[in-house]
Amino acid sequence: MTEGVHPASGDALLIVDVQNDFCPGGALPIDNGDQVVSVINRWIETFIQQGLPVYASRDWHPKDHLSFATEGGLWPPHCIQDTPGAAFHPELKLPVSAVIVTKGVRFDQDQNSAFDQTGLETHLRRKRIVRLFVAGLALDVCVLATVMDARRADLEVLLILEGTRPVTESGGTAALDRMQEAGVSVLDDRSDHGPAG
Ligand SMILES: [Zn+2]
Repeated sequence: MTEGVHPASGDALLIVDVQNDFCPGGALPIDNGDQVVSVINRWIETFIQQGLPVYASRDWHPKDHLSFATEGGLWPPHCIQDTPGAAFHPELKLPVSAVIVTKGVRFDQDQNSAFDQTGLETHLRRKRIVRLFVAGLALDVCVLATVMDARRADLEVLLILEGTRPVTESGGTAALDRMQEAGVSVLDDRSDHGPAG
């Protein structure tokens, strides 16, 4: 646990896949997935107030993507490019300055991590980002993959626990264990929300 963490220069907020299809009513809904939105909005406000960058990844699949069960993959078809399901949650207050990281576009493989062949690591290095605050969906799939890649890239990572939800509870618990073994700090108290809390 980490208390009283305040974003500062060298920090960025990375919001993973807060898209309609991953929220209740979507094609691949995560229980209470929409509850992350208000939490993340407070963090966005804090980052904007401090003049710090905000990144938002999105799953953005071509039709008939190989990750879909209809094509032999694991998941129901979801986040198909330019469909309402692939849009960010309508209440997510992404600033116009937010940098969008698009993944899942490859025909030959899935990309759970926002770092997987997107060039994000190079970009963050150029921007002198050394620490990422991460939230989004889902804790045990795309957030996990993203966080582990961030650690491999030697970035410090703070996971905003209230700002994420797992596909399964057991998967979420296992994901948190793996993250903490990899040196990720977990923020899990409302008092950690910094100036906006
Ligand atoms: Zn996907």
